[in-house]
Amino acid sequence: MTDSGHLGDILFGLRATGALADAWDLDAAAPLLDACVNFARSVLSPADAVADREGAHLIDGRVRVPASLERAYAAYVARGLHLMGLPEAHGGLAAPPAMLHAVTEVLAAHGHAFQMLVGLVPGGVRLLEGLPEATSDRLMAALASGDMLVTMAMTEPAAGSDLSAIATRATRDADGWRIDGNKIFISGADQSMTPDVLHFVLARTGEHDGRAELSLLAVVTRDDDRNGVEVRRLEEKLGLHASPTCDVVFNGSRADLVGEPGEGLRRMFALMNHARLDVAAQAVGHAARVTGLATDYARERRQGRDADGRPVTIADHRDVRRMLTDMEATTLGLRAMVDLAAGLEDDRLVGFVTPVCKAYCTDEGQRVVDLGIQVLGGYGYLRDYEIERHWRDCRVTRLYEGTNGIQAMTLVGRGIGDAHAVEAFQDVLAANIAHASEGFRAAALPVADAWIETTQAVRTCEAPGAAAGPFLRLTAYAWYLAAWSCLEAKADASPSPRRVRALAHHVAAGAEAEVRHLQAAVRRYLTPDALPEIGP
Ligand SMILES: Cc1cc2nc3c(=O)[nH]c(=O)nc-3n(C[C@H](O)[C@H](O)[C@H](O)COP(=O)(O)OP(=O)(O)OC[C@H]3O[C@@H](n4cnc5c(N)ncnc54)[C@H](O)[C@@H]3O)c2cc1C
Repeated sequence: MTDSGHLGDILFGLRATGALADAWDLDAAAPLLDACVNFARSVLSPADAVADREGAHLIDGRVRVPASLERAYAAYVARGLHLMGLPEAHGGLAAPPAMLHAVTEVLAAHGHAFQMLVGLVPGGVRLLEGLPEATSDRLMAALASGDMLVTMAMTEPAAGSDLSAIATRATRDADGWRIDGNKIFISGADQSMTPDVLHFVLARTGEHDGRAELSLLAVVTRDDDRNGVEVRRLEEKLGLHASPTCDVVFNGSRADLVGEPGEGLRRMFALMNHARLDVAAQAVGHAARVTGLATDYARERRQGRDADGRPVTIADHRDVRRMLTDMEATTLGLRAMVDLAAGLEDDRLVGFVTPVCKAYCTDEGQRVVDLGIQVLGGYGYLRDYEIERHWRDCRVTRLYEGTNGIQAMTLVGRGIGDAHAVEAFQDVLAANIAHASEGFRAAALPVADAWIETTQAVRTCEAPGAAAGPFLRLTAYAWYLAAWSCLEAKADASPSPRRVRALAHHVAAGAEAEVRHLQAAVRRYLTPDALPEIGP
């Protein structure tokens, strides 16, 4: 897939799922996404290759990201791409969520570390409404100038998945709020692309344990005023070497309270629903890029001969074609899952499908990247061929913003515990599948029925934890087929209708076996003795 092919697929996904609704016209979206693809291909991609080798460094207490990323950021701002998620009142483009996820996909496909550094601005903008107007305006102006980026500081040594264990404290004195505590794993807590950083910090404002007294605070650091924020070390990681993952201490740092005390998790979750779909979009970006690279490679690499003894390319081998078809169909479907979720207006349904999309798109995106390595054979394992970088960088998407295990626990708990969300989910499945052709409908409808039946069994199980992962996959697979129904129904609007119909046919042909397998996995882990007691 070429880069213009990538853009064509993105626009087709937005069109087929109706993700932009009335918010934005596709004619307005197309040139902006084109500009984004152009930046990603010509500036970011070469910068990322160098940055991955150089890595970020902590020098005399300050973080330096590779110079290639500093230059890429300057070009990003010069092209106005940082304005995409900002409100019009501050010179922004006020792009709707589906458009922002599409931008994330493109940037992550060419430079995941860079995308992480710039990617929290749109979510952060939403949190600013909880600040006094003058403060919010000041911060918005800094974001609009490109002089400030945003971080999200939640994780602590004793508080990973369990945020109720957060120990960082915020106290009020005569001048306002001050923060003291240690956060770890904080991406971009310091960097050398902007002079200012806005940190959204989750901290405890009361004496009691638990979640009720967690509050959200905004802390600003500047090149000339560190505000008591000290980066102690950078983590050494499997991938994303250019993204500084910081162990950071807040020493009496001045802060502004966002909203009211105790509203921390509620406000952070508003940001996190967007951020979790964004993580899904990152994985789609990796899958799309790797599918393109593997397809191009397979069409050129000559190995073996056909039945008449003539030399062939590896794309002519049926085993390789199977992998490429799987990669292409999966990538199109995952993107449409994100689009479909981003276009929803019912907040409770958004809360239901977000963990489902986050976990499934990242698991499947990583699987696609892994297949890409397989297509290239030994070359896929080499640094020269880019795909190994995607494999390393994509891996984190299954871990951060809540591990995929936590997403599954959310689904079997709050998710299917919300009768309204469950009903709305079924309605969206039914409505979208109804638009597909008779053949596709015949494959997709039994999956929706299987989901209803299995949900009942999960709901009545006392300890569904072991079945949560497989149940999330089954739920996601139903959403995937609903998303594919949109693509199939609107195939004529795609750059290549024949290709989309052929891939839809391939997806439909696999549905029965896949759903049988997923249902069996859920049933197996719903039984009380599904897990053995393993002694010391
Ligand atoms: C590269 C990178 C960047 C990051 N960036 C940021 C950032 O910018 N800001 C930030 O705040 N954090 C960030 N994080 C932290 C990340 O969000 C956490 O690592 C993640 O939430 C998991 O927490 P943990 O690592 O402590 O794992 P743990 O919570 O210790 O989990 C370990 C395992 O136990 C499982 N588990 C835990 N609790 C339960 C449960 N109740 N039920 C079932 N299973 C459970 C998990 O699913 C997982 O498999 C980043 C992490 C990485 C790797």
